[in-house]
Amino acid sequence: MEIKRSNKLHDVRYDIRGPITTLAIQMEQQGIPVIKLNTGNPAAFGFEPPHYANSLDTQLQLTAAYSDAKGLIEAREAIAAYESSKGIRNIDIENIFTGNGVSELITMSLQALLDNGDEVLVPSPDYPLWTAAIRLAGGTAVHYICDESAHWFPDIADIRRKITSRTKAIVVINPNNPTGAVYPKDILESICALAQQHNLLIFSDEIYDRLLMDDSKHIATASLDPDLPVITMNGLSKSHQLCGFRAGWMVISGDLSQAGNYLDGLTILASMRLCSNVNAQAIIPEALADPHFARNTLVPGGRLYEQREQAYAGLNNIPGLSVVKSKAGLYMFPKIDTHMLRINDDERFVLDLLREKHVLFTHGSGYNWHAPDHFRVVYLPEKEVLANVIERLADFLSSYRQY
Ligand code: PLP
Repeated sequence: MEIKRSNKLHDVRYDIRGPITTLAIQMEQQGIPVIKLNTGNPAAFGFEPPHYANSLDTQLQLTAAYSDAKGLIEAREAIAAYESSKGIRNIDIENIFTGNGVSELITMSLQALLDNGDEVLVPSPDYPLWTAAIRLAGGTAVHYICDESAHWFPDIADIRRKITSRTKAIVVINPNNPTGAVYPKDILESICALAQQHNLLIFSDEIYDRLLMDDSKHIATASLDPDLPVITMNGLSKSHQLCGFRAGWMVISGDLSQAGNYLDGLTILASMRLCSNVNAQAIIPEALADPHFARNTLVPGGRLYEQREQAYAGLNNIPGLSVVKSKAGLYMFPKIDTHMLRINDDERFVLDLLREKHVLFTHGSGYNWHAPDHFRVVYLPEKEVLANVIERLADFLSSYRQY
């Protein structure tokens, strides 16, 4: 009997852990060590989680039970305080939901919103879960361009052009994965103005907001207009190096007088999964009392900062590659001069590099980028490993051609 996947999965992709990872796992099973730079998973690279993540068993009686479907009150109060400190006004803890990572909340919030054929504006390049979750919910992801020649900021004219009568929402990923861009106020204000004008809900994915470098400042989209309905997503995976805990949240803010029906829908979906991991929720108050846990790694001399510097210089030194400097987070998105290096298939490039040099990157088209001319680098490994990765890449590209 053939067992087939449902039609709902037509066009749903998540290449970061797709065929490239399958090959990497096969290679490892054959005893070939692979340097895997495909996921932003700090603890896997030796970044230590906070000590209070250890205090879980002292709260066992509390965390062994289901919590309220939206999350523990203490966790939601801490989230409200944190997001208020970012300038988001009038947060009601009834409009805060905890999730098994932001990932679950992305899927949930779109399932609750979209009817078949509804459109959502999503950045290109994107964090591909957004596009996948929109498609799974029956919607259409319409990609707006982020402009590499303008620090990878969203192209406001392109967003405007792509709004139709079916557009329901716009996704903003700031700080950005995969580009590392941090958006200035005027760009965010323009997006808010378009949302206001066309009645669009804004999803603002801010999971990298505490991983800022240089003089970058993060502005919460929802802080710019107290009336605009915005769903702000955040969590502890990156800022506290706790990816495996699955601790995320979303805050729905703005004038919600017309949103009761949607909020009821969200409550149904949250209740259907009973609650998110309560162990992970239980450390949210302590973690958010210490929001800048990773700060030491982000300043000159700090691990993440120095690794970014090294990746940036190393990549730009390779003939045929250029990269815009990441200002936050864990990633950069280098451009390949495809004409010079004769590359016309970015996934094949990543697979060939993996086979030959045992280094795993992810291809740009996996981030819904329209041309085969980018790939994403995770700069989490120690400097010696990064130096070695750059050397392997440079050596590979010195002779690799696809046509
Ligand atoms: N949003 C962005 C932009 C991400 O890069 C990630 C993970 O890499 C997530 C959301 C999901 O994070 P989590 O489910 O661990 O909270």
